[in-house]
Amino acid sequence: MSETSKNGVLLKTKENLQKSILQFFQDAIKKQIFDAVLLPMKVPSGDSFAWIMIKDKEILKDAQPLAPIMPVNAAKALKRYTRKGKGKFKIAALMRPCEIRATIELTKLNQVNLEDITLFSYDCVGAFPMQDYIADPSGGDEKFGKLIADKNFNFKDVKPVCQICDKFSLSANDLHFAFSGAELILVSNSEKGEKLLTDLEWQAETDLAKWQKQIEELKKLKSKNRAETFEIVKGMVEGFDNLVETFANCIGCHNCGSSCPICYCRQCYFDTSVAKPNSDIIMLRAEERGAVSLPLDRIMFHTGRMAHMSLSCVSCGLCSDACPVNIPVARIFSYVASQTQKTFEYEAGASVGDALPMKEYKLEELGELGELVKSAEAQEENHE
Ligand code: SF4
Ligand code: SF4
Repeated sequence: MSETSKNGVLLKTKENLQKSILQFFQDAIKKQIFDAVLLPMKVPSGDSFAWIMIKDKEILKDAQPLAPIMPVNAAKALKRYTRKGKGKFKIAALMRPCEIRATIELTKLNQVNLEDITLFSYDCVGAFPMQDYIADPSGGDEKFGKLIADKNFNFKDVKPVCQICDKFSLSANDLHFAFSGAELILVSNSEKGEKLLTDLEWQAETDLAKWQKQIEELKKLKSKNRAETFEIVKGMVEGFDNLVETFANCIGCHNCGSSCPICYCRQCYFDTSVAKPNSDIIMLRAEERGAVSLPLDRIMFHTGRMAHMSLSCVSCGLCSDACPVNIPVARIFSYVASQTQKTFEYEAGASVGDALPMKEYKLEELGELGELVKSAEAQEENHE
């Protein structure tokens, strides 16, 4: 948090938080602070939401900044916009804190360019599991409206990863909508955020102490829930036999990888022909082991993904939403991520400035392998 953000700007509220946040973005477009806003909007069928880049103030009226579900992680939507470099427009993007964290990770992986993007976030009450929402969208909307109105951050019907999320508030965003009792406070959290308040000629005069205390108390509660859940998940994944049993129902659809914002590789090994051997090779494997299960390599897919992206997993829960056989993929990956990130003293999505351990490393950290790299480099120099 920047120095001046001990105070925030008290925003004028309309009849509900959704409308108040929309009003902010409508005014910002009118004042040409932004050219467009990236927000969720209901799809025409009414049973899901999509990320829409909105330029027209009239269309903005129909957006729903706080959506009850998260069909796509917003980091993926932003990646589509900036993957080939920054655009020509000033964009505001409003996301859940886990989506901000995914955006920060993708920025470090050169998948997102934040130069002209201002990231907004808000205190997140969680999202409903997709399957529950699709079964009863209007009931889901009503329930979610009540959650926001009551500022209920501890609701049992939100996704299991949301129930144990202790990073549901301020993250590495530029500006944050803080829900403090009946008040809506805009908190600046970066130089870009400070500049926006200056451009708007707004003074941050509202003390944030009460809101910060509420958030800290909730974080403590959620951290406790998280630790308890992780104890259970640990028993599900530690040891090969447990891992095999946990993923026994996996049908190898790879939906969990396709929906994950961090699984960004354009060419995944598991989609290559090498990972899809012909019948002779399958029979050879069956001969060596006595039998093979098909589809092949389901455990390898999950352990491969764990090795590949658990340093950057942000516990968004998209993988669980996408799993057709209800494997608790998100809780499993969140647990594994907590262990990997602890080992590397790294926190996914905390700051663009934190180097990604697997991308930037010191040779000493690699032990014997580091020595081999050093000697190979020395040999190369001698050849030059
Ligand atoms: S592994 Fe699952 S919880 Fe983690 S970032 Fe990917 S989709 Fe989100
Ligand atoms: S989404 Fe579920 S069934 Fe599909 S690969 Fe992932 S864990 Fe297996």
